[in-house]
Amino acid sequence: MSLLSTDSPTAPCGMPSASFDDGFSAAILFNQGEGLTYNDLILHPRHIDFGVNDVVLTSKLTKGLALAIPIISSPMDTVTESTMAINMALLGGLGFIHYNNTLEEQVAEVRKVKRFKNGFITDPEVLTAHHTIADMDIMKRTNGFSSVPITDTGKMGGKLLGMVTNRDIDFVTDRQTPLHAVMTTNLITANECSSLSEAFHLLQASKKGKLPIINAKGELVALISRNDLLKSQNYPQATKDDQDRLRVGAAVGTRESDWERANALVKAGVDVLVIDSSQGDSTFQINMVKRLKAEHPSLQIIGGNIVTKLQAHHLIEAGVDGLRVGMGVGSICTTQEVTAVGRPQATAVYNVAKYASQFGIPVIADGGIANMGQITKALAVGASCVMVGSLLAGTAEAPGEYFYKDGVRLKKYRGMGSQEAMTKGSSVRYFGEQSKILVAQGVTGSVMDKGSLRQYLPYIIQGIKHGLQDLGIQSIVQLHETLNNGELRFERRSIAANIEGGVHSLHSYEKSIT
Ligand code: NAD
Ligand code: IMP
Repeated sequence: MSLLSTDSPTAPCGMPSASFDDGFSAAILFNQGEGLTYNDLILHPRHIDFGVNDVVLTSKLTKGLALAIPIISSPMDTVTESTMAINMALLGGLGFIHYNNTLEEQVAEVRKVKRFKNGFITDPEVLTAHHTIADMDIMKRTNGFSSVPITDTGKMGGKLLGMVTNRDIDFVTDRQTPLHAVMTTNLITANECSSLSEAFHLLQASKKGKLPIINAKGELVALISRNDLLKSQNYPQATKDDQDRLRVGAAVGTRESDWERANALVKAGVDVLVIDSSQGDSTFQINMVKRLKAEHPSLQIIGGNIVTKLQAHHLIEAGVDGLRVGMGVGSICTTQEVTAVGRPQATAVYNVAKYASQFGIPVIADGGIANMGQITKALAVGASCVMVGSLLAGTAEAPGEYFYKDGVRLKKYRGMGSQEAMTKGSSVRYFGEQSKILVAQGVTGSVMDKGSLRQYLPYIIQGIKHGLQDLGIQSIVQLHETLNNGELRFERRSIAANIEGGVHSLHSYEKSIT
């Protein structure tokens, strides 16, 4: 089919318009009868009259929630627990806590995010007074900690009894000595209501390495470390609620037990729920959305996953505040192979966003993002945010330990519909209680070490800003305006063009991880 454009942009005064008739608007490009993926597209550059740091990436996640950066982490058990969610929110994005766990476990993860205070350690190693110096030696060898709080339960939340530091135990020869014989009990502590700067001044005055934070009952709620404070940064873009707490999302399903789960999450302070399903256009989901909206009118609810306008229509009618788009395109996904259902992602995002934008409902492009250029493409075809799994699963903040294979440092990454994840807990959700035959729609694999999210995410963000600058566009709002008025020009990329656009013709090269 011919790609002849009939919608060329207006030419400057006195110039023949045909001379600038170049590329295709999205309306033409996506109307050729073939589903397109990100790699099928390339965007034309436009005139630049601003610096890269003038690009602002603020965007809508839902009708009622905006983010400073348009990236959110997927509710998968190898991607988002509280550590990922805390760091995503600090950097201006948001994390969605997975639900391949018990209601209590998921609520505890949400609480950790809501209670997080920058610079405060809320999960330090703790011992009882009956532990021995030998126990502390093991802790030191394993974790490198040089001081430990002592509580009556040996856990956070127990009554604080003392602190043991290296100085208390260095010269004790009998390593079986119980800690109550050596611990310091005359402690300087701060109250849980203290701000970081108040606690910092107390720590400075005390000349100690650690400052325990306690509540009115004398129970340990956090610890502040001198070393961490020296390293602590400010996060001006952090995603926060009106009580200055970090925002967090969580996933739930559509079964009766999920109703109880959703209510417990709301009680714990969750800011936004995503109803998690590969095919969200179901009576189950519509009923869940309506019920949640009736019970919690101000709670932000994201529906999905969907890939068509009609599916979007059903969920918007039910009352969702955001839509999650993507079926069968995730890096760990076998859905299209197994079910023969889905849609190429760029086409899905474009069509759903075009429909949903009439109602002010933002679209999240979920899955299939392999590099930062694809994030820019997802935004350029109408997404307000992208949801990523594989991109973040190799960071230090993702759940799980690193391991080595063939000399490469890796972390496990698995689909929530993989055999392994279902065995862990999602099989009831996935197949229904009666089903005996488990058909996996995902795989278990591994991804390379990406280092800390705190360095990796700002790198990605800067890459997206370069993308928008090359497009001559300063914000995501402007990007969507140019998408809709046809000023943003696209072109199809042939297989040869894809090869040409990648690194080629070299004997060898090194590439930074994106
Ligand atoms: P799901 O819970 O939506 O569906 C599992 C099965 O249970 C379906 O047959 C569904 O119709 C049925 N079901 C759901 N709610 C029900 C209810 N209330 N009563 C009776 N039956 C009900 O889960 P899923 O779609 O299989 O996805 C499982 C996980 O895998 C999710 O985390 C999902 O995000 C992920 N996944 C995503 C994709 C994708 O392309 N985005 C594809 C496959 C899996
Ligand atoms: P990725 O960013 O390409 O790795 O894709 C992540 C997305 O894949 C998630 O946000 C889900 O929408 C989807 N997903 C998660 N688990 C599975 C699965 O088991 N099968 C198919 N898709 C999945």
